[in-house]
This record gives sequence, structure tokens and C-alpha cells, in this order.
Amino acid sequence: MTAATAYDAVIVGSGPNGLAAAIALQSSGLSTLLVEGADTAGGGMRSSALTLPGFMHDVCSAIHPLGRASPFFKTLGLERFGLQWIESTSSVAHVLSSNHVVTLERSLDQTVAALGGDGQRYRDLMTPFVESFEKLLPLILAPLRFPEHPFLMARFGLEAVQSMTTLARRFDGHEAPALLAGIAAHAMIPLEEPVTASFALVLALAAHAVGWPVAKGGSQSLADALVAHYEAIGGKLQLGRPVNHVSELPHAHAIVLDVSPKNVLRLAGDRLTRSYVDRLRRFRYGPGVYKVDWALDGPIPWTDPRCTGALTVHLAGPLSELASRIAETHEGRFAKRPFIIVGQPSLVDETRAPKGKQTAWAYCHVPHGSSVDARIAIESEIERYAPGFRDIVLARSSRNAIEMEAHNPNYVGGDINSGVSDWKQLFFRPMAKVDPYATSAENIFLCSSSTPPGGGVHGMCGYWAAQSVLKRRFGQARSR
Ligand SMILES: Cc1cc2nc3c(=O)[nH]c(=O)nc-3n(C[C@H](O)[C@H](O)[C@H](O)COP(=O)(O)OP(=O)(O)OC[C@H]3O[C@@H](n4cnc5c(N)ncnc54)[C@H](O)[C@@H]3O)c2cc1C
Repeated sequence: MTAATAYDAVIVGSGPNGLAAAIALQSSGLSTLLVEGADTAGGGMRSSALTLPGFMHDVCSAIHPLGRASPFFKTLGLERFGLQWIESTSSVAHVLSSNHVVTLERSLDQTVAALGGDGQRYRDLMTPFVESFEKLLPLILAPLRFPEHPFLMARFGLEAVQSMTTLARRFDGHEAPALLAGIAAHAMIPLEEPVTASFALVLALAAHAVGWPVAKGGSQSLADALVAHYEAIGGKLQLGRPVNHVSELPHAHAIVLDVSPKNVLRLAGDRLTRSYVDRLRRFRYGPGVYKVDWALDGPIPWTDPRCTGALTVHLAGPLSELASRIAETHEGRFAKRPFIIVGQPSLVDETRAPKGKQTAWAYCHVPHGSSVDARIAIESEIERYAPGFRDIVLARSSRNAIEMEAHNPNYVGGDINSGVSDWKQLFFRPMAKVDPYATSAENIFLCSSSTPPGGGVHGMCGYWAAQSVLKRRFGQARSR
């Protein structure tokens, strides 16, 4: 730090990526300040008593396969700061119809057994990558570059570049395609598009390698552990300080923005070149989500016990039905029977609700920026597979796509991935550029999920942005 600067680096936004960037920079010997607009740290990892006293809900992210497996978070020893992962043996129950359910189990063998004739094909697809998951994930959660294990990456890449519908053709039955398509659909991209298989593969592999865990007490525990780590190494955090322009920040060698392109333009547009601004303006956002959280009098009364045992339930139907629901939303229409993702964290985490009670959440995809109220559609669909569900609702809290953006400006139009992750924008976020974290201003950097490797709680956008800052502003090679 020189005499004229207050900090070496100031980071705006305390989502997983802002926190990861702040920790990586602070632990490299820099002095850093992390500024957050909300009164609570964590961005998409915040939890809150949204319904009734004693019921704790994850406002946004809830299930953390990538949070647990994150190559950066894993190095931080977050368990020392109270983080505890809890999982169920069953990660996903995918409902094809009322008496037709297939599950993604933590155990590869059990998943294979549930897939009948397609089991061996599923095993052949997954086994090489489950066995090499530790080596593979850091290659996937990174910007485009020559990979450390080129043969492994090439083998994975050949499968991952396919569309989900192409990947599905290697199976004979309906179960494996539906199960994988339900996972791929988290990315909110039409399943016929290239690279949609990658989302199914990465998240299914993670389920077998590390599970789909929740953080005990709520996702906030992950945020709190990251904050505790950051402060323990000397980082400074200011909450409740929304930034309208970078000129409001203390002087620093580097400003790192955990915000999406729309807000980069607002915060720093006048510091960027015209051509960079033009390219940022062309960044595309995807569909939004409508989410409901419930306080429940007991577990959801699913007819099929496989749904009762799974942390996540996909109400999706077979692949063909799911594909048309996703396509409809993508074209800007609200699907009458939307794809619904249901989460039941208190089944494994008794700290989330008073004794005998439960919490649950569900969201569905809606058109970008839509004010549609999807609550009835969501509750009717759950009721169809869990008769009596509405009778056990004690209280509910919901947010449409517009309210989602009001809660967190990064979810533009309700887009929880902060930008479409189709093949063009998955690798080239926010634009095609050798260093996607650097902007046209030498001291301003981006680290949000609008940069590679994109959405999800893993902190790797922040980690890689920090490497760019270290190299460009401080002449340091990688911190690790
Ligand atoms: C409903 C929902 C469900 C999800 N489920 C999952 C899940 O189960 N698993 C998973 O891995 N991911 C999930 N996600 C996605 C995940 O939350 C995001 O991908 C992740 O949080 C992105 O991290 P980030 O650090 O880039 O940004 P964010 O987490 O969005 O954090 C950005 C932070 O910057 C702050 N900020 C923005 N602008 C300013 C400003 N001008 N001044 C000051 N502060 C500012 C915001 O307040 C926020 O705290 C979900 C998201 C949503 C909304």
C-alpha cells in the first residue's frame, strides 16, 4: 500500500465470489476492504426467518455440491469457523409421473440399480469422471486456458459439449434422460442447445463425488464462515453500504466488482472505454425465477417415498415434456405447468425448524423480468404428487422475478445465474477476452458470476479474478 492509497484493493459485494476474491487478495499479503450494500454479508448465500419465528430459510442458494467441492473454499478450513455440511443419501428425486420416480443417489451403484437397463450405460458414462473428480473439477471451474490434464479434459469435453437431448440418445429408457435433463435444466437453457449436457454431468458427478449438501443452520453459515476467515486474516468488512459509483470508494490500486454487467455500467461506466461499454451492453440475461418458502407443520406428504427421502425433488416429467417447458419459458411465455425444483433442507437439518415442523422451498423458471405470480401453479403441482400439502402450510413467503432483483441487484430480471450460460456466454463471460476479469480500466476488475466459470456458489470467479488483480496490479504470480 502506498501513502496515497487507503487499501491495496477494495471489493464491492460480499457474495461467494466477492468473499473469495477478498480472501485470496488479503491472504496474498494485500490490505483489502470488502463493501456490501445489504445489512448482511453473503449475497446469494443469505438465510433469513422469512416466514415465522424459529423457521430459517435460505433466501437464494440452498444446495451446495460446488460449494463443498470448490477447489478454493476447500483450502480455507471453513469447518474451523463453524461450517458443517449435511447431506441426504438421495440428492434428487425426479418425478416423471405420479407413480414413476427416479433418484440420483450419493452412491453411484444405487443410482445405477435404479436405472434398470440403462444402469450400465450410466455407469460407463460417469465412472471415469467420478474417479478423477478431484482433478477434473478445478479444470472445469476455471476460465478457458490450456488445461493441466489435457487428456482428461478432452475426454470430458467431448461429452460435455453435447446438448442434453443428444446425450440422452445413448439411453434406451426414459429414466436416465429425465434425471439428467432435470439437472441440466438448472441452467435455464433450452435442452437442445450445445453444452447443456455439461450442467447435467458436472452436478451429477458432484452428487456421486461429494453429495449435494446443505450447510447446517442455513447457507448463511457458509457466508459467516467465509467472513470469519476473511476477518481472521485481517480483512475489513463494511455492511449496509450500497455503492452507486466507484468514486465513493476509498482510493485503492484495484477495485473488484462482484456485480453483474448492468450494474458495472452504473458503477463505473464513465471509467471504461466506449468499446468495452458497448460490449458489456451486449451481455445477455436469461429467464428469471419465482420462489416460494414455506413453514410447514410436518414433512411434505409425497405419495412416493422416494420423494420424501430426497433433499431436492424435480417436478418435471419425462425429457420431452421438460424440454418443451424450458423452451416455452425461454421464449418469454410462462409455462402453465412449469419445471419446479423443490428443496426440503430440514429433513436433514433439524436446526431449521421447531421440533416436528419443517421448512421447504420451491422455485420455477419464469420469463425474464416477469411479475407473474407462480405460487398457485407451484402449490398445485406439489399437491398433485403430495395430496394434503396445502393443509400443512403454516406460513409462506414468495418473491417474483422483479422482487428477486430488488433483493439482489445481481439477479437482473430474476436471472439467478447473472447472465445466460449458453455456449457463447458460458466460456466468454462477460465477453470474449483473454482475461475476462480485467476491464478496460486498469484498476477495475469483475469477479461476479457474470465471469467464468459462471453461476453457483463456488467462489471460483472470485478466486480467478484475484489472480488477475495480483498479476496485473501487483506483479505477483498466483497466490497458490
Ligand atoms: C433462488 C435462488 C436459488 C439458488 N440456488 C442455488 C443453489 O442451490 N446452489 C448454488 O450453488 N447456487 C444457487 N443459486 C445461485 C447462487 O446464489 C449465485 O450463483 C451466487 O450467489 C453468485 O455469487 P456472486 O458472488 O457472483 O454474487 P451474489 O451472491 O449475487 O453476491 C453479490 C453481492 O454484491 C452485493 N452488491 C451488488 N451490487 C452492489 C452495490 N452496488 N453496492 C454494494 N453491494 C452490492 C449484493 O448485495 C450481494 O451481496 C441460487 C440463486 C437464487 C437466486
